[in-house]
Amino acid sequence: MTDVLTPVLSRNWDQERAWKLANYERTGGYQGLKKALKSTPADLITLVKDSGLRGRGGAGFPAGMKWSFVPQDNPNPKYLVVNADESEPGTCKDMPLLMASPHTLVEGVIISSYAIGCKYAFIYVRGEVAHVIRRLQQAVREAYSAGYAGKNILGSGYDLEIVVHAGAGAYICGEETALLDSLEGRRGQPRLRPPFPAVAGLYASPTVVNNVETIASVPSIVRDGAAWFSSMGTEKSKGYTLYSLSGHVARPGQFEAPMGITLRTLLELSGGMREGHELKFWTPGGSSTPILTADDMDLPLDYEGMAGAGSMLGTKALQIFDDTTSVVRTTLRWVEFYKHESCGKCTPCREGTWWLVQMLRDFEAGKASEGDIEKMLDICDNIGGRSFCALADGAVACVTSAVKHFRSEFEQGYHTPAWELFPYGRSALF
Ligand code: NAD
Repeated sequence: MTDVLTPVLSRNWDQERAWKLANYERTGGYQGLKKALKSTPADLITLVKDSGLRGRGGAGFPAGMKWSFVPQDNPNPKYLVVNADESEPGTCKDMPLLMASPHTLVEGVIISSYAIGCKYAFIYVRGEVAHVIRRLQQAVREAYSAGYAGKNILGSGYDLEIVVHAGAGAYICGEETALLDSLEGRRGQPRLRPPFPAVAGLYASPTVVNNVETIASVPSIVRDGAAWFSSMGTEKSKGYTLYSLSGHVARPGQFEAPMGITLRTLLELSGGMREGHELKFWTPGGSSTPILTADDMDLPLDYEGMAGAGSMLGTKALQIFDDTTSVVRTTLRWVEFYKHESCGKCTPCREGTWWLVQMLRDFEAGKASEGDIEKMLDICDNIGGRSFCALADGAVACVTSAVKHFRSEFEQGYHTPAWELFPYGRSALF
């Protein structure tokens, strides 16, 4: 069964001190960089385009295409910003990657920066993970000492400074434009797009913002070729990726597999559901992606497969819930998170998430009234697509999909008047 796994990013995770430079080099580390420095930046962009690598932060935008949007005739400096502000509920792939193999990212940063003509790269890490920040800083220092970063990298004449920046624990700062505001020293709030960061990002200069896993995938593509990478996965979703299984499974964890694997196969790899229980619902990619049910277990876990099922692949954070779980309570917990993390810039998100929490609390306490489901869906309609960033869309996706699949559980949250519970009827009461 384990032969369906394709450990590339995770190939050394079980090795002792895999995070040390010497151990990374022993297994082919920095060979991709040496090869890349012999290519032209334009050839590298073409290579990444040909590989079909799509952004692994959730949206799946083609990475090579994003890089090609950086206007090389713009006199401003170009920047690479790695989004390591992983905070989506359920999402837990980037932090293990950084802990186990930080040099995979550092090598990817150097190659990607060279490809887009950037001399300053930033890695923005969520503030709560001090241990990850320390490990990454150590890896960056090792890369400088070995001549992989800094001035005249490996005698090529190419210079690159790498800065590891710690965020301050705000979910919104994982949104790329809020992240850039935060990096510039301001309160992190989303900017209107366009212009997209590739054209006007950090300090209004062309900036590529990519997720950790996206950039960490680059060294192996350079080393082993675009054809090798695109031979894995499905027609439009190429390569391998990290799927994170959490919740009511026997063995939760990270599973690196080709794009398009099914939940059924991943569940077999993770030892199945907890003993004696059955799958009730799951998220394909964190709480921002509409929930699915046991009927969707055989769909390909790729961008197209999930879109076809009315959901999204997102961050591939598969949260698994069994038959003991209340869908109303789970939705409430998610929406409480979005309400807490809403940055407050857009009224529909700031006010709407607060109202959703009040309504969901009523459903959970059995105090909702008939018609409240429609009212709640109406509020969702007035939040989704009406805010600057995707936080609002994420906040309503769990609500609308939960109602779609489990409407009767919400109906059970309607308040039952006392006389309906009284066995002799209302008239006997008054
Ligand atoms: P998006 O589709 O708007 O953009 C994706 C990327 O493509 C961005 O970098 C954007 O700049 C770029 N892009 C899109 N169109 C472009 C164009 N015309 N020109 C240049 N660049 C272009 O998605 P988004 O709002 O950036 O992100 C939403 C995703 O984030 C969701 O899918 C969600 O799953 C994910 N997410 C991830 C986390 C996490 O912890 N990793 C947290 C919350 C949400």
